[in-house]
Amino acid sequence: MKQNPRDVCGVVFSLVVSACAPEIEQVDISGATMGTTYTVRVVADGVDESSLRQNTGAMLERIDAQMSTWRAESEISRFNRTRNTDWFGISGEFMAVLSGAREISRQTDGAFDVTLGKLVEAWGFGSSRSPARVPDPEMISAYLAHSGPDKLEIDPSRGAVRKIDPELQLDLSAIAKGFAVDAVAGVLARAGIEDFLVEIGGEVRASGKRLDGSSWQVAIEQPRTKNRSVQTVLPLRDAAIATSGDYRNYFELEGERYSHIIDPLTGSPPDHQVASVSVIADDAMTADALATALMVMGTGKALAHAAEHDLAVMVIERDGDQFLVHTSDRFRLLSSAE
Ligand code: AMP
Ligand code: MG
Repeated sequence: MKQNPRDVCGVVFSLVVSACAPEIEQVDISGATMGTTYTVRVVADGVDESSLRQNTGAMLERIDAQMSTWRAESEISRFNRTRNTDWFGISGEFMAVLSGAREISRQTDGAFDVTLGKLVEAWGFGSSRSPARVPDPEMISAYLAHSGPDKLEIDPSRGAVRKIDPELQLDLSAIAKGFAVDAVAGVLARAGIEDFLVEIGGEVRASGKRLDGSSWQVAIEQPRTKNRSVQTVLPLRDAAIATSGDYRNYFELEGERYSHIIDPLTGSPPDHQVASVSVIADDAMTADALATALMVMGTGKALAHAAEHDLAVMVIERDGDQFLVHTSDRFRLLSSAE
């Protein structure tokens, strides 16, 4: 029997349709990077899991090799080791982070400062693993004199930086993780994936929706060292959230708690009761840097800064054994709207 060409077409068409029928699935990838862990969750059809894993891993390795002070041959470690004021060529990513850092430093009146490397080391929170201790006041003032944004010149057009003060030491720990979250989000977007969640050490970026079509949800934890529990859960739509706190990386001496956050004005951890600050922003680099800057400021200044710049911020303050929770208007708006 001679086949009607239209029937053949019909058969072919239905085969094609069934072969291409979208099978949307959720794929999770996780691993270790930047001294912490990461998770990538994507929702898409026909996910090529192995290339996703490879591209994500390659991007994270690249950023770690640029910005980790824990790696002797990273770009940042090589730059920190120089003791001159010559121009030093850096990668585009390193430049993007330094430019972003300068912007946040300006916006926060210097509370955010990536030039505090010497002080971070002096307090025992750096890569040399020196014991945590309270440095001599003379040492703090000497190191403060070698820090500050004015000690670093950056020239994005020539892709280079130079120390104005040869003693300057950079530390990108408060912003690099956020940058890496954005970079992985870029990898996913370039692969045509629209629905995903990227998390590195608690800094998160969400895009699109979950498998069931609802918004991604993220938890802000209670700032307790032991017995981890959730303070609140909120939806995150095409945005990022980062948290900075004093409850993981700190030491105690004579009843005083010293956190890894350094106030660039004093060269010491801030003396206030803020236990954590969470910031929601469009990108994770901004959220990461702002969360650290607001930790420096303390509750009053942080909330005033959030109001002035319309930032979405949650500040959790210690009050004896309890916590006082403060939120900005923008935070309440974003966390309540479903
Ligand atoms: P985060 O957990 O993102 O708040 O980053 C904290 C880390 O950033 C610390 O362990 C230091 O290495 C570094 N750091 C401390 N104080 C500051 C500051 N005021 N500005 C920028 N980075 C800081
Ligand atoms: Mg940070």
